[in-house]
Amino acid sequence: MGFETLGLSEAILKAVVDAGYTIPTPIQEQAIPIVLQGRDVLGCAQTGTGKTASFTLPMVEMLSQGRAKARMPRSLILEPTRELAAQVAESFDKYGKHTKLTKALIIGGTSMGDQETVLDRGVDVLIATPGRMLDLFERGRILLADVKILVIDEADRMLDMGFIPDVERIAGLLPQMRQTLFFSATMPPEIRRLADKFLSNPKEISVSPPATTAATVTQHLCLVDSRAKADALKELIASEDVKNAIIFCNRKRDIGTLHRTLQRAGLNAGCLHGDLPQSKRTETLDAFRRGEITLLVASDVAARGLDISDLSHVFNYDVPIHAEDYVHRIGRTGRAGREGRAFTLATSEDRKYVTAIERLVGKAIPPYAIPGAAVAAAPAPVEGIADAAAEPPAPPAPRRERSRGERPRREDRPRREPRSDAPAQEAAQHEAPRESAGDGGRGGRRDERGGERRPQRDRDDGPAVRGLGDHVPAFLLRPAPPVPQSADSIVPEAEAA
Ligand code: AMP
Repeated sequence: MGFETLGLSEAILKAVVDAGYTIPTPIQEQAIPIVLQGRDVLGCAQTGTGKTASFTLPMVEMLSQGRAKARMPRSLILEPTRELAAQVAESFDKYGKHTKLTKALIIGGTSMGDQETVLDRGVDVLIATPGRMLDLFERGRILLADVKILVIDEADRMLDMGFIPDVERIAGLLPQMRQTLFFSATMPPEIRRLADKFLSNPKEISVSPPATTAATVTQHLCLVDSRAKADALKELIASEDVKNAIIFCNRKRDIGTLHRTLQRAGLNAGCLHGDLPQSKRTETLDAFRRGEITLLVASDVAARGLDISDLSHVFNYDVPIHAEDYVHRIGRTGRAGREGRAFTLATSEDRKYVTAIERLVGKAIPPYAIPGAAVAAAPAPVEGIADAAAEPPAPPAPRRERSRGERPRREDRPRREPRSDAPAQEAAQHEAPRESAGDGGRGGRRDERGGERRPQRDRDDGPAVRGLGDHVPAFLLRPAPPVPQSADSIVPEAEAA
């Protein structure tokens, strides 16, 4: 079945052809006719399924009739991150190029003045992150009385990031008589409750079961010594034929350190996380897309939805704390039927996170020995899951010749970062993956730069209690010499102080 059967007009079909699409994806085939009928949609679909076009194409169609009034957008799309919002805005350019549709992108980290000027002219589509949208509304720069279509995209991500109160508030400001399209990659009970609240008699469309990893992604688990992770990663990169890769870290502080380490090793690396100015984030992402940067060290801000075609590798420098983030991270590769390779570096401390991931994806991640890297003890296999860990590690891929500039040098090894052993601090030490990806929930702290609010403090800058990780200094293992028992040598603690 082609696009011409879905009820789209000539101008839009022409844009679809220009985009190079011939066959609608399952979500497009199901959602487009329903959206065109004006019905609410509850879509359970991950990025990579063609979800964006499933709502943008019919919206372009419906909005091509009529005109927007000043400051009164006719439709509103809420996205959890600035990058996703920008990507959706590009889709409107692509699919609306043969129409006179106008749009505004309202995200934090960009000039309010420019955004206000565009709004003043009147826009058909407003694509926004929730915090910045409410800021502009409170300043009286946006009137929401004319919004006929509301899209809530990546609802589970919004929930994770603490944006749902903002989304609820925004929904309360919109006219009751409207069409709502609600998309989420997963449908936990809280998301379903929200959907029930926002939607009226929706058509439910589910295109892929949640938490599946693409069959085109080859996954590997590399057990590494926590003190030599950066070296292990460099060895791994050198031994793989990496065209371009995202390297995910849990903590922003580690992103900076690793980025510098890779650069010093002569590798072409950039970095991306929520504390960088938006202009820098956009610039880095564009350079990565153009292939000017080949390695992108990133937080989970890059895990969802980013559409980088032909990404050869994903490296999890840290095992994600939230198992579902693993699915999103490795889903950046192996897209559109292409082959992708995903490697996760795990230390002996990461056992419980690896276990949670293996439970979620329903299979063990096969172990892989990085040529030349220090190996940690293997985590125990997860009960009831096919024991790939029992298989011998995959033979190392043939080593690619390293150019002189790429050769990891001993002095580049990062200084050892002791890790916390205390469970309570452990979570707090990891950067909240649900961090400052877009803008903040209203309840969170204000960002100094853009007046945005953040849902929670980034966990990597909180107080950290440090332990020795899995390293036990040799002197602690030696038997203690007998203590001389002279009366002088015994000093009460209080006195000593
Ligand atoms: P999305 O799930 O919206 O992030 O889309 C993932 C990728 O699929 C994007 O690069 C789209 O350009 C591409 N895409 C969307 N629809 C189609 C289609 N019908 N045929 C081929 N590619 C598509």
